[in-house]
Amino acid sequence: MPEVNIQHLEKVYDNKVKAVHDFNLDIADGEFIVLVGPSGCGKSTTLRMVAGLEDITSGDLIIDGKNCTRLPPKDRDIAMVFQNYALYGHMTIYENMAFSLTLRKEKKDVIHRKVMAAAEILDLKSQLNKKPKQLSGGQRQRVAMGRAIVRNPKVFLFDEPLSNLDAKLRGSMRRELILLHKKLNATIMYVTHDQTEALTLADRIVCMSMGHVQQIGKPIELYEKPANTFVATFIGLPPMNMFEGVIEKGKFKSSLFEYPLNDAQKDLLKGYEGQSVILGVRPENITRDGNVKLHITNNENLGMNTLVHGKIGGVKIIVCKFAEWCNYKVGEEINIGFDPEMMHFFELPEGDIPGKAIRQGGENDGTD
Ligand code: ADP
Repeated sequence: MPEVNIQHLEKVYDNKVKAVHDFNLDIADGEFIVLVGPSGCGKSTTLRMVAGLEDITSGDLIIDGKNCTRLPPKDRDIAMVFQNYALYGHMTIYENMAFSLTLRKEKKDVIHRKVMAAAEILDLKSQLNKKPKQLSGGQRQRVAMGRAIVRNPKVFLFDEPLSNLDAKLRGSMRRELILLHKKLNATIMYVTHDQTEALTLADRIVCMSMGHVQQIGKPIELYEKPANTFVATFIGLPPMNMFEGVIEKGKFKSSLFEYPLNDAQKDLLKGYEGQSVILGVRPENITRDGNVKLHITNNENLGMNTLVHGKIGGVKIIVCKFAEWCNYKVGEEINIGFDPEMMHFFELPEGDIPGKAIRQGGENDGTD
């Protein structure tokens, strides 16, 4: 039985904004799920419906076999960690962590045991007598997690918990979260707009856009087999380069270049002869040979690799990521190609609906 079972969840706000459309997900016990997508895509609304902070317009939420759709937050056996930590400034760290248990009128010795156990896990034992303002951002974030841990909930909900931290601290907190998840074997639903957090933290990612789930899968599935043009460009940094063109006589022909297809690609695209499609190539899958002329506009050495920006046909701006240290000059022209194993093809988007990935056997949906 899944720990959390979400069926056809929908949210329509009072102002008629439909923030979430038909959200379906089973979360296994101990699974780390990350909801990712741009601002306004409905991820916080989804999390807040699971938490009980927003009414569920329709659909069902089942946690550990219990239908929680209409239950108040306190009866759902969940704990939420917020972006702004929501710590009480006048209380010590110990009191902050003990707060929910004190409210529940737990015995003092039980509270003490739970707070000390959480402080041990989070390396906060030496901070317990301090006030929140005496702690660093990272430590405060850990206290916020400590408050959730002492309650030993069925599910932890995290709403952009790292977005107030600077880049370096975010990296170290990410690594701490991975270890914490292993230690606690906790079931986690985590919201972020940051694709790096999604890729590094998640057992499975739920990628959303405009209130719709676009793809659910392991990080590598979203990276290697994006279900559509939205996921393809949202996951991966720098984003995938996209070119529109027509499939014609064994070639992908755009107004900027023509590119020969190999046998596997011809086979994949045989139903698309004469039709427009999108070719997607990640910056790291661009090679330094091939028949496409790139006019260099920028050469950024990052130490372990080089980001090379350039224009094709004077108009199309793309970015390449070469593993080598490169020293191209602005204005230089080079030949590039695409790793044939890593060329992605999509149907054209229609209005707001992203273009579907074209895959062998038609399995181009990507949700599971
Ligand atoms: P995200 O967390 O992905 O940034 P949200 O879930 O906060 O997105 O918002 C999804 C959509 O719902 C947005 O269009 C947002 O403007 C709208 N929305 C969020 N909260 C409310 C509200 N209380 N009333 C009306 N519309 C809302």
